[in-house]
Amino acid sequence: MLDSLQDGLRSAFKTLRGQGRLTESNMREGLKMVENALLEADVSYSVVKDFMQNVTDKAIGQDVLKSLKPEQQLVGIVQQALIDILGGDSDPSLHLKPDVTVLMMCGLQGAGKTTTCGKLARLIGTEGKKTLLVAADLQRPAAVQQLHIVGESVNTPVYSEEGASDPIAVCQNAVKHARDNGIDVVILDTAGRLAIDEELMNQLKTIDLKVQPDQVYLVVDGMTGQDAVNSAKAFNDALELDGVMMTKLDGDARGGALLSVKHVTGVPIKFIGVSEHMDGLEPFHPDRMASRILG
Ligand code: GDP
Repeated sequence: MLDSLQDGLRSAFKTLRGQGRLTESNMREGLKMVENALLEADVSYSVVKDFMQNVTDKAIGQDVLKSLKPEQQLVGIVQQALIDILGGDSDPSLHLKPDVTVLMMCGLQGAGKTTTCGKLARLIGTEGKKTLLVAADLQRPAAVQQLHIVGESVNTPVYSEEGASDPIAVCQNAVKHARDNGIDVVILDTAGRLAIDEELMNQLKTIDLKVQPDQVYLVVDGMTGQDAVNSAKAFNDALELDGVMMTKLDGDARGGALLSVKHVTGVPIKFIGVSEHMDGLEPFHPDRMASRILG
């Protein structure tokens, strides 16, 4: 995961470690390599700028160079800056209510929304809770069928209505069905499109308004870099997201979206998809991810 970013940061630290004595000038050289590693990972420019400002002020300004182990201190400073940029102490808890909790899942087509709905149902199931998946993507005929297949693979019932054309009614009926049947969590698999358009956003806003989900999540494809950040911005403007679930970080994702999305949109990452299998969803902890990136 994020191999090239890891390599880039490692070589920056290695350069510094090789120096007999650290000076402001070789510290700046090491920091430049950190900056390049972030830019090469496709991290948003504004994020890189803020990140470097933060790190440089600490590394050059606070007697780090006079300390006994300046390079270790630099690693600590970069680690803390990574934690901050990844969301600080944001936690991935779903904050389930004692009765029914409704989670609304949104995303562009192909981002991994339906797969993530299944993964989430599986994860919630491991905590002994009952989940109902709801087929609210009525845009694509195959979507309802796909959710049934996913539901079966994670032993979770799927609510769908044959021939339905109103996703709002489907969601409302599903929530009622969940209340009547002792379900703990309802996951709404809403429609996706190839691109953000007004019709899609209006449909999602209406579901949000009429069904009043407890939490709204956006699923984005981590391999799409800045596009993932831009769609998070657009969905958050329309829906006030509670969190992002970023998929496909097992692929050759460079990490730009992962490092940019919270800082650019203010929306924390809650879960990450790390395989196409149903057990490939991990709760996201900024501190653990920062340690993983720094190896
Ligand atoms: P949707 O259109 O947003 O509902 O997307 P799907 O759930 O159908 O997923 C699109 C493709 O991405 C499928 O082939 C999934 O197996 C794949 N996929 C989803 N999440 C992940 C992930 O975390 N890692 C990998 N490698 N593939 C994923």
